[in-house]
This record gives sequence, structure tokens and C-alpha cells, in this order.
Amino acid sequence: ATYTLEKRYLRSDGSARWARLTVSLMREADGTPSHFISVVEDIHDQRMAQAALADSELRHRLLMHNLHAGLLICAPDARITYGNPEVSRMLHADPRAVIGKSVPELGCTFRDEHGSPLSLENDLLQRVRHSGRELTDLVLSIHRSDDVPPVWALVHAYPEFDTSRRFSRIVLMFIDITDRKRLEAELLADRQMKAAALDAMTSHVAVLDRQGVIVETNASWGRFAERGGYGRGKSFNGVNYLDVLAHVTGPDEAYAKAASDGIEAVMAGRSPLFQMDYPCHCPTERQWFAMKVTPMDAQRERVLVSHENITSIKLAEEAIRILANTDALTGLANRRHFLEIAEEEFARAQRYNTPLAVLMADLDFFKAINDRYGHAGGDTVLRHFAITLSSLLRDSDSAGRVGGEEFAVLLPHTSLDGAQAFAERLMECIAATPPDIDGALAPYTVSMGISEIDAGSKDFSALLRCADDALYRAKHNGRNRYEVLTAQDRSPPAGG
Ligand code: GH3
Ligand code: MG
Ligand code: MG
Repeated sequence: ATYTLEKRYLRSDGSARWARLTVSLMREADGTPSHFISVVEDIHDQRMAQAALADSELRHRLLMHNLHAGLLICAPDARITYGNPEVSRMLHADPRAVIGKSVPELGCTFRDEHGSPLSLENDLLQRVRHSGRELTDLVLSIHRSDDVPPVWALVHAYPEFDTSRRFSRIVLMFIDITDRKRLEAELLADRQMKAAALDAMTSHVAVLDRQGVIVETNASWGRFAERGGYGRGKSFNGVNYLDVLAHVTGPDEAYAKAASDGIEAVMAGRSPLFQMDYPCHCPTERQWFAMKVTPMDAQRERVLVSHENITSIKLAEEAIRILANTDALTGLANRRHFLEIAEEEFARAQRYNTPLAVLMADLDFFKAINDRYGHAGGDTVLRHFAITLSSLLRDSDSAGRVGGEEFAVLLPHTSLDGAQAFAERLMECIAATPPDIDGALAPYTVSMGISEIDAGSKDFSALLRCADDALYRAKHNGRNRYEVLTAQDRSPPAGG
């Protein structure tokens, strides 16, 4: 009786047009077919819209399927109406099982950035529903069970309204930031480890950038600054270290300049390392530091400047040096050190053509003193002589114990007359205040030989030999006296 057909009609201009054709058969009263009624309905626009919609839906589905973000659409009652594959993955849920469930029924729990439990229903959906406004950049972790590592997500929630401005649904977008979070955690752990390593160092450490600006300091640096009068916890970050060094004046200026040059040389790659020991004394304390500058990376974007307190090493070195140079019994310079000083003084006197006298002293009949008072008594006499001798020296003079009971004295800027006056004063002092051994006075005498630098003395040992010869003469001539002998006396000029 009737049929319907959707068909295309070709127009005379070649274009096609969709139409729905409905044909009905009309009959006479006795049933004989009489005619058809054909209705042609233009459905072209409708067909086109349907095709476009189907196309758009396909594209939309493809997009949702392949989106690198999880998408969850919830009805106003929080029931899930759509979830794409990515959100199913992130929520550890079967994609088909998600539809129709409410968020709490998903079986996973959520925590905020600090690890506190978070309810997607109350903390997110409710808030968006009540405010009617989008909520973005919420960072949360998704937990399924203890076996599965949590997924970190950045969540945005958008409310949607229908045409009559009624709240219709909420679209939740989940962006997986697990990798970023892991890298951040690794970076943080790395930074904490570096800071802990820096803080564990006893040296004061600062990290500088290419311009010399301090970007980091360690705990030891902070403690040193605090002792230096800076407030506790004062930050030095942002301070240009090279500027600070450039403003140092006074006795430390040369060290500051050397430090600055060293840092710049390491920064510019001209040297792989800079090291310098420098004193840092204050009125109450003598201190020394070892400064070390090393690059922290191949590009030298950062250099590490460390200052290590080496005071104890320097003091120990000093003590060892003194010990090595000093005669333990008398506290005077020992033979080796005295000869060192004497060589320098001799060279200076020669260079500037200034007088230099030398005096050799040997205690008389010392074997007898030892025999009478014992070895300890002899030591007392040796110390007494050393103290008496030292008390007569000027700052520029030096004395040394060069043998068992033999001493040498160096008298710069002193002529033979001066040296003889010195020898006389020494003999008088010894005679006037003899030492006391076990409650008894123990007088003793000394013989001396004096010489002075002159055109004939080619080196210090020659000069010392002259004084020694003079001493021998003093012994020979009766002891408790001095004799004078110079190089010129020994080899008088031709015709003299
Ligand atoms: P002279 O007047 O000719 O110099 O006679 P002397 O007895 O002083 O000379 P000699 O060189 O014969 O003896 C030096 C003595 O000094 C011998 C040695 O036992 C003693 N002596 C050397 N060193 C020490 C010391 O450290 N302590 C003591 N108590 N005696 C020492
Ligand atoms: Mg002797
Ligand atoms: Mg002697």
C-alpha cells in the first residue's frame, strides 16, 4: 500500500540532493488500484548534518581514545558517565566497569601532595558543584593497592551547564605527572645529599656562579660568619665574592688579590685548581686557612671555593721548626740553625758592605766542672751561660750552641771594638753572678775568640775559623780572656 525510500536526485546542474520519497497506492471502492500519491520531502540538510555528526563523533571517539590525558565525565550526582582509556589506566580500573559507578566506588584512594587522604567526591566535585567554577592544578596521587606504585596526577575540573544554565556535568582531566614527580624527588634527594655532604665538610664552602656570585654556602661557612659577627642564619647568597675581595684593604689586600686572580683563572679554565695558604690573625687568635678553588662542572658554570682552617697544622709546623732549630738544653739556636742564620747575615754584610763580628766562646775546664758538680751541675752551668749571653744580645744579634760547651755569637753592624766590649761585658757578668748549684756558688770562666768580616774573609766558615783560631790562642794564653784575629792578620798583605 505504501513505501518509503531515501534517494538522491541529480539536478540538471550536476549537483545531488537527498530526498525522502513516500509513495501510497490509492484504490477504488471495490479495491481496484486507481492512482499513486508521491510525497517528495527534501531531507538534504538533515542528511548532511547527520553525516557531519557521525563524522564528528568518530573523530571525538578517536581523540578521547588516544588522548594522553585521562578524561572522566561525571553527572551532577557524581556518577561517571564517561571515562577514556587513559583515565582507566590511571585509576587502575576496567574501562567498561567505570561507567555508571560513582567516584568512591572506583576502588582507589587519593592523597594530596603531603600524603594526606583526599576525597575526590568532597574535595573536588562538591567544590566545583558549589562554586560553579573550574578548579585547576590540583596535584594528587592515586593509590590502588600496596603492590601497585601510586600514579601522580595533575587534575583540572570543569563544570558544564546546559542551555538553561542548569548544572549538567563535571569534566575531570587527569594528566599523568608520575615521571615528573619521580624526577623531582630524585632531584630533591640529590640536592639534599649534596647539601648534607657540603654541611658535613669542616671547611667553609661557597659555590659561585660564573660572575662570582655566591649561590650556596655550607653550615661551616655559616658558623664561621656567625663567629665573625654576622647574625645567625645570615644568607650570603647573591653576594658577589669577587667584589668583596676587590674591596679588601690593609695587610690582607695581597692575599685577596691572589684569591681573586685564582678564582678567575679557574673560572676561565686557565687552571684546573687554585690553592693558597693564608694567615687570618686577630688580636686574640692566630689562624691560618687553606683556600682551594675547584670547578664543579666541565663548563665551569659553578666553582667551589673552600677555606679550611689549617691553624693546628701551621702551629704544629711552627713547633716542629722551632724544635728542629733549637738546642733543647739552652734554648739557643742549634749548630745547624746558627750556621743558616750566619750564612744569611754574612751574605747581607758582604752585599751592603756593613760590619759583622763573630765571637766563639768555650767554657774553661768544663770537664772539671762536670767532675765536681756532676753532669746535671754541668748542665746548670751551660744554661747559666746561655741565659747570661742572651741577656746581653741586641735584637739583631744571634747566638747558638755550636758544640758541647762551645757557643758562637753573631754581631751584625758591630766592629771589632764593639765585639771586644761585648766580650768584656760577658766575662764581667759571668764573674759577678755565678750560678748556684745545690746551694753553693759555682764560679766558672770562659775563653773567647773574636773576628770580623774583612776583604780576606771569603765565606762565613773562613770567618768562623778565624774566631776559632783566636779562641785557641785565648786558651793557650791562659784562658778567662779573649783574643782577636782577622783574615788579614792570618795572611798579611804582601810587603806587610
Ligand atoms: P778547656 O778549658 O780546654 O776547654 O777544657 P774543657 O775541659 O772545657 O774541654 P774539653 O773539650 O776537654 O771538655 C769538654 C767537656 O764538656 C767534655 C764533655 O763531657 C762536656 N760536655 C759536653 N757536652 C755537655 C753537656 O751537654 N752537658 C754537660 N754537663 N757536659 C757536657
Ligand atoms: Mg770545648
Ligand atoms: Mg772547654
